[in-house]
Amino acid sequence: MSALARAPPGARWPPDNPVAARPGRWHAGRVSRPRITVRMPADLHVFLAANRRGEATEVVTDGSSSLGHVVESMGVPLTEVGRLVVDGREVPAAHVPADGEDVRVHAVERPQAVPGAPLRFLLDVHLGTLARRLRLLGVDAAYENEDIGDPALAARSAAERRVILSRDRGLLRRREIWAGGYVYSDRPEDQLRDVLNRFAPPLAPWTRCVACNGPLTAADKQAVRDRLRHGTRATYDVFAQCAQCGRVYWKGAHHARLEAVVAEALRGVKGSVGRPPSV
Ligand SMILES: [Zn+2]
Repeated sequence: MSALARAPPGARWPPDNPVAARPGRWHAGRVSRPRITVRMPADLHVFLAANRRGEATEVVTDGSSSLGHVVESMGVPLTEVGRLVVDGREVPAAHVPADGEDVRVHAVERPQAVPGAPLRFLLDVHLGTLARRLRLLGVDAAYENEDIGDPALAARSAAERRVILSRDRGLLRRREIWAGGYVYSDRPEDQLRDVLNRFAPPLAPWTRCVACNGPLTAADKQAVRDRLRHGTRATYDVFAQCAQCGRVYWKGAHHARLEAVVAEALRGVKGSVGRPPSV
């Protein structure tokens, strides 16, 4: 028989206690609010309030939240966070900080491995140019033309195991996303360089439809001649057709510009390029 079961009828549990009887004092006396020191790498300062961008910043926690939650509440999406080291020892994001701890936050490692599924991306509605450039390089980059909303995007990321790329921290904080990456620049050239540098996706230029992300197949000019304007038919050689939307690709006037985008991208990532398609 337990102590509680033996208690006389009408007894309270816990027993009357002079501290417990005054909830305010009980709370103040028993629940400490730990003060911790948090050191963020310069790469992540962009997420912090201006007064927290120094070498180290002191944070008062509520004593029960995880370190992951504390870091996130400072404005840093966990998708951007790598190792968490407390007093020289690596801890999981679930670690609950204690008073006096010294926390060193590391940015996510580059190149970043995303285990569990082939590397594929899902871009939010603001990243159309980046999506087309990734596709040009053969990277699987799904993109919604319309703003379908954060819950739907996050659900698609989970269902298709796609890494969400976004400049929206709120979207990256959603628990259901498969994986995510913050896009640091608003310039498409820098965005592309950043994503290639971070995730090092295998590249296979000219193998994917920039319009719909479908795979391209080599096309015979005669087979697609009805889809071409007369001028195009007379001047250019067709080289590919999208298996998904039927769009035909040829080396037209804008080809040189696209070649330049591809060449620029490949300069930074030599070694991970797949076999070029036969054209
Ligand atoms: Zn297509």
